[in-house]
Amino acid sequence: MRILIANDDGYLAPGLAALAQAMQGLGTLDIIAPEQNASGTSNALTLNRPLSVYTAGNGYRYVNGTPSDCVHVALTGLLPRPDLVVSGINQGANMGDDTLYSGTVAAAMEGYLFGVPAIAFSQVEKGWAELQAAAAVARAVVERIVALRLLGRPFLLNVNIPNRADAAQLPWRTTRLGRRHASEPVIQQTSPRGEALYWIGPAGDAREAGPGTDFHATANGAVSITPLQIDLTDHERLGEWSGLFGVPAPQPR
Ligand code: MN
Repeated sequence: MRILIANDDGYLAPGLAALAQAMQGLGTLDIIAPEQNASGTSNALTLNRPLSVYTAGNGYRYVNGTPSDCVHVALTGLLPRPDLVVSGINQGANMGDDTLYSGTVAAAMEGYLFGVPAIAFSQVEKGWAELQAAAAVARAVVERIVALRLLGRPFLLNVNIPNRADAAQLPWRTTRLGRRHASEPVIQQTSPRGEALYWIGPAGDAREAGPGTDFHATANGAVSITPLQIDLTDHERLGEWSGLFGVPAPQPR
């Protein structure tokens, strides 16, 4: 088995090293990550300049680009095709609307887009507390998937792990994405030269966090596992829109 390991926090992030250590012994590992922290870059690809790939002393590759760049370059010529892409372990939750902005999820999604099974791992709280326990969970999830012989067919899983010393003993829950409130207001400052500056505000609190959601699972002491898909089509309202525009509805899937 060959496993491609990536992240969005950068190649020096403790979460990447913990994930790489957790995958030891499961197969051949390739590690490739952004040179700089690229959290919140979603699925961005760098198209306006070439990318450089460097190798650190520990064998990790790093790229002056985005998480999607890393996996894209790896899958399209730099490295042999993997059987699995794992991303993380991210510093902070990727639940609900976070998944749209997340570079951690995007790195995994890039694998999925190329037909490779992929898993994104995140710790719910920032600060890397109980990282080794989260890494043990990541190992257990991958081992279970291997044991179930699920690696032949592409899938995309989003795993969020509470920062607890006993994370490896916590139950797993399959979940759907919750929703967050709109982000906090932008924060305005003035530069030393008098220019107005704007900091994007923090993510909003959970709004839809009832039973069945990723927010609910992690808040209640469980590891959250959300299967993701990419199709953003509003299938529910497709017929309604067709009627409103007086056009035939497209063939269903
Ligand atoms: Mn991140």
